[in-house]
Amino acid sequence: IFITFEGPDGAGKTTQLLRLAKELQSIGHEIVVTREPGGTAISDKIRSILLSPDNIEMVDQTEVLLYAASRAQHVHERILPALDAGKVVLCDRFIDASVAYQAYGLGVEAEMVRAINQFASSGLQATRTYLLDIPVEVSQDRLLQRAGQSAHAPLDRIELKGFEYHSRVREGFHHIAEEQPQRITVVNANRAEDEIAREILTDCKRLLEQ
Ligand code: C5P
Ligand code: MG
Repeated sequence: IFITFEGPDGAGKTTQLLRLAKELQSIGHEIVVTREPGGTAISDKIRSILLSPDNIEMVDQTEVLLYAASRAQHVHERILPALDAGKVVLCDRFIDASVAYQAYGLGVEAEMVRAINQFASSGLQATRTYLLDIPVEVSQDRLLQRAGQSAHAPLDRIELKGFEYHSRVREGFHHIAEEQPQRITVVNANRAEDEIAREILTDCKRLLEQ
């Protein structure tokens, strides 16, 4: 079973994904935790090209294709083999992020982004997606806080884009969730960590029992 976490930067996706992994492991599931862009050696190299703030000259087409290239390697080298082996794969971001960030954020045609990613992933879809939703203001505050606290976690090229861009991304996520309500569960992530974790775990256990 393939589960993805989506949402704006600073929504707590990584934290919640790791908490869910721990809980599922404790009840006997074999879990693979992974993330995008990244998740394999090649994909991680592509990630560093995508996120380096030095690469300001990157055009939209390149950005779409690099996210898709990173994903292609990740799906075929890592995710599909794990799913074939019966494992539960928890992935931090997937195709919805490309539709939200590159289609809604940059203005690339959504159908084009979907088609490219359909090819890249050989049509793989998540069984369940947790969309962790927070207001753009909260997201930006959390990012600035993170960057201020650690010199090792400066803002990446995408995080550096402004409020308007990130507002379009959040709107994009909302549209995607409305289009696919059976797969995507919207979680209000502007709450206590424990409360969010409980909500996700309850839903996920129900899903695994089906
Ligand atoms: O989740 P994480 O912050 O590690 O992702 C790396 C960055 O890539 C994020 O800042 C996110 O804004 C960006 N991203 C993107 N398009 C995607 C996936 C991630 O712009 N399709
Ligand atoms: Mg980020």
